[in-house]
Amino acid sequence: MLLHINEPGQAAPQVAKVPAIGIDLGTTHTVVAVARGGQVTVLTDADGRRLLPSVVNIDGIEHASTKRRMGSGEVLPVQAASMILAKVKHMASVTLAQDITQAVITVPAYFDDTARQATKDAAALAGLDVLRLINEPTAAALAYGLDAAAEGIYVIVDLGGGTFDVSVLNMQKGVFQVIATGGDTQLGGDDVDQALYDAFLAAAHYEQTLTHMERQRLQMLVREAKEKLSTQDGADVFIALQERDCAHRFMRDDLDRLLNPILRRCLAICEQVLTDAKVERPQIAEVVLVGGATRMPAFQAAITQFFGRQPLCTLNPDEVVAMGAAYQAAALTGDGDSLLLDVTPLSLGIETMGGLNEKIIHRNSPIPCMKQQVFTTYQDGQTALLVHVVQGE
Ligand code: ADP
Ligand code: MG
Repeated sequence: MLLHINEPGQAAPQVAKVPAIGIDLGTTHTVVAVARGGQVTVLTDADGRRLLPSVVNIDGIEHASTKRRMGSGEVLPVQAASMILAKVKHMASVTLAQDITQAVITVPAYFDDTARQATKDAAALAGLDVLRLINEPTAAALAYGLDAAAEGIYVIVDLGGGTFDVSVLNMQKGVFQVIATGGDTQLGGDDVDQALYDAFLAAAHYEQTLTHMERQRLQMLVREAKEKLSTQDGADVFIALQERDCAHRFMRDDLDRLLNPILRRCLAICEQVLTDAKVERPQIAEVVLVGGATRMPAFQAAITQFFGRQPLCTLNPDEVVAMGAAYQAAALTGDGDSLLLDVTPLSLGIETMGGLNEKIIHRNSPIPCMKQQVFTTYQDGQTALLVHVVQGE
């Protein structure tokens, strides 16, 4: 803690502070924001982009969605994340005209210690000092100022490019605890793109195999059409393929029909997470939408119907996580309030005889934390024992 002591009547010295940034290191997009004087700004790169593709090029090979393998022990995800973070650090330093070295980075609520440590390692490699890692759903809640709202249960629903996550948070005295989290790491906007891609080729009766370039181009076109259909009734896709030109106009209804199976999977996960959290729908104070794909009207309608209430979606769903991280970064550097407590995301325990996990520190315990428990040896006269510490539920 740093204290400024002033003579009576003297103004506090003005120290030019270097801001700390908030980073949403997403599976498909990375977003950076900074909060100063209570105002949050999403930073843009040299091309004016607010969402940076989470794609890196290593030795001429493009790698995307490496976040899914964070903490797997593989080097690539850490390397990829550090390259993205180095780029972000540079971009923020240029935009803010100051050498930015400190950040709050968000991670999915389900990340275990290994994946969290891998994220910190990536930041260290990029020359960034991680003030704190916070959970993505918590960051979204902070962006909406829910830490200052009524105490209670908040549900954060996040449909990104490749992943779907639902988290139930319990907020007490401004502190969020994750009481349940669930999802599918293979469910997101990409699945919608794939469905549109297949539907396009079927509608055009195109049977020839597409080249790699054609596939990439069509993937981009159907994705654009999908995004347009969130605000328009129809969207045209036209592509000149090897054999012939193909065109098709998608209507919002077509998209909604293709979305049905995807929405069913999303709602089944919502149902499961509420069951895990032992929460009934009327107990929920607010539902928050996160992730670019939640812009789809059919998704919003399905969520509204399922929870029986309008979700919060006034902030940009692909920016709210970075915004919340930025508020937290500001609070940690003394520019703002709402400091969060850290909690253990998963229980820690030791393995006992018969392969059972005896939980000692339960998930969501505020850290640092200390617990004691007495165990007996398995055999009389035993002089040694092996302690196997395990993490998880
Ligand atoms: P992640 O957190 O996985 O990095 P994002 O939150 O950035 O991902 O979400 C990316 C997904 O959101 C993509 O599938 C993208 O096509 C989709 N998306 C973005 N804008 C829209 C929109 N207007 N309508 C529908 N989907 C959108
Ligand atoms: Mg995300």
